[in-house]
Amino acid sequence: MRAIEATRVARTRSVVAAALVLLVLGSIGAVQAGRSGASFMSDLEIVQPPLARIEPAIQDARTPRLARRVYLVIIDGLRSDRSYELPFLDSLRRAGLDLEAQSHYPTWSRPNYVSILAGVPPAASGVRTNHHNTPVTLDTLMDRAHAAHLEVATATDYAVLPQLFLRPASTATTAVRAIAPEALEEIDIDTMQEPLAKAIVDAPDTALVSPFDDARYVPWPGGFSAAGIALVAGGKADLVVLLVSSVDIAGHQSGADSVAYREAAESADRALARVLGRVDLGQDAIVVVADHGHTGKGGHGGVEPEVLTVPLILAGAGIDRAGGVDDARLIDVAPTVAALLGISAPGHGLGKTLTHVLALDPAARGRLEAADAARLVTTERVVAVADARASEELLEHRALRLAIVGLCVVLAGVLAWVMVRRGALRFHLRVLLTAVPAFFVVYYGLIGTFGQRFSPSLVPAQGHLAAQMAKYGLVGMAVQVAASLWALRNQGSLARRLAAANGIAWTGLVLAMLPAGLLWAFFPAPYLAVPGPVWLVVIPAVEVAVACAAITIALTLALEVIVFAARAWHQEHPQPPQAPPPA
Ligand SMILES: [Zn+2]
Repeated sequence: MRAIEATRVARTRSVVAAALVLLVLGSIGAVQAGRSGASFMSDLEIVQPPLARIEPAIQDARTPRLARRVYLVIIDGLRSDRSYELPFLDSLRRAGLDLEAQSHYPTWSRPNYVSILAGVPPAASGVRTNHHNTPVTLDTLMDRAHAAHLEVATATDYAVLPQLFLRPASTATTAVRAIAPEALEEIDIDTMQEPLAKAIVDAPDTALVSPFDDARYVPWPGGFSAAGIALVAGGKADLVVLLVSSVDIAGHQSGADSVAYREAAESADRALARVLGRVDLGQDAIVVVADHGHTGKGGHGGVEPEVLTVPLILAGAGIDRAGGVDDARLIDVAPTVAALLGISAPGHGLGKTLTHVLALDPAARGRLEAADAARLVTTERVVAVADARASEELLEHRALRLAIVGLCVVLAGVLAWVMVRRGALRFHLRVLLTAVPAFFVVYYGLIGTFGQRFSPSLVPAQGHLAAQMAKYGLVGMAVQVAASLWALRNQGSLARRLAAANGIAWTGLVLAMLPAGLLWAFFPAPYLAVPGPVWLVVIPAVEVAVACAAITIALTLALEVIVFAARAWHQEHPQPPQAPPPA
């Protein structure tokens, strides 16, 4: 009798010990996975990409200036098929060329402002998301204009453009790479977003300057057109960059299929008509483009055709109305605008001048194409070498990372074996089938259904992919806790019930962590190459899943341990029967 009792106590102890071990492992997993999920977006960013480390390959094509002034209009988030039947844009189309351009993956804003203004796509620019928060040191249109002693101005209702291309004051016109990489990492352009940001108040006079001679940030209603009209009427700048954000905001709030998106496009069109309606197209040129489109439900980032395809409208001096091109990309805009102004294309660019839209004689066209070819020999080689090195580095340690994951699986197996032998862990099939899939089914089901399939465009809202997924994770967690408690009812003795809960915890942790381990082995952060669109969702989704699943398991186990301890205490300290009240 005493021996049986001693066995029971020993078994109880090991069940509780096993639960505590799994609790600790789950918490470590949750913290680790949560941290990688939180840093996923910044792990995609590269502060100084390989291209920025070489001298810009600037070529002088010696072609004539075709336009006195160029107005480069970026309508943020305007997709091509929604850009028609807008009176001002249509009038430009009739006066010039109605084309389309392809944006570059990942189709977010900051990455593609860089595509447009530097001619470098996100993969090579290192600007992969809107979380890129250090100045871009690639050669840009603004740098080329300054080198040719031209003036550049901007008006926008969205602040980021000047910060994104901040330059050291002393060398603003020539050396774009003059900020040391260490110093670069200390500049956080996001702390400068607000007009009264601490960074601005603390440093009213630093060695950094805007790449624009005249930059007007006008974040109030009607501010954009007022500033634009003033800039255009002032007429000093040779290159004017206008960035409108209202269409993108409507896309995020209501989707491109909505009336609100349409109204935002019409309102932006009217604002542009006020700003540019009196431009003399006989002397000046207008180029209209968007950084990306929007899905019908709203959202961008992926490779959906409606997100990749943007309008490209060119009109005015220097534009060949009989010309055209059907494979234009956003990275071709900068060299084309440079050609209109008769200046060199940005020297880190990977795009080509759209010579067939320009009014050029054959000799000048030939010189432009030769200049592009000479630049691309340098820039494409730098990118190819860097890509090759990156994939080499990736492969180099992959076997080691896979071995580490394998070892962890073996250790988990050994842990389970020891626990099962001591009766501390039970794999009860019905319990496992009820409790374990609950989280995964709910969580991935929500991402797949509400998230517009597994695309980086998955969420309409701007922001962090992992943060959006965490919301789906919370729903999954609630269902999982309920399913676990339901599955664990009728499990006989308390020790058996806790051992079955341990079984859920072990299986859930292994199922959540194994894919995370494999992804770490195949795509270790930081991401020198941009993972494909599906992986760009799966990687943070799995990291968030580990965090959520581990928290859920820890919660369930903690609940079970409390229930177990309370009931055990009750069994050992039975309440004395109450004396009946005196009659
Ligand atoms: Zn955008």
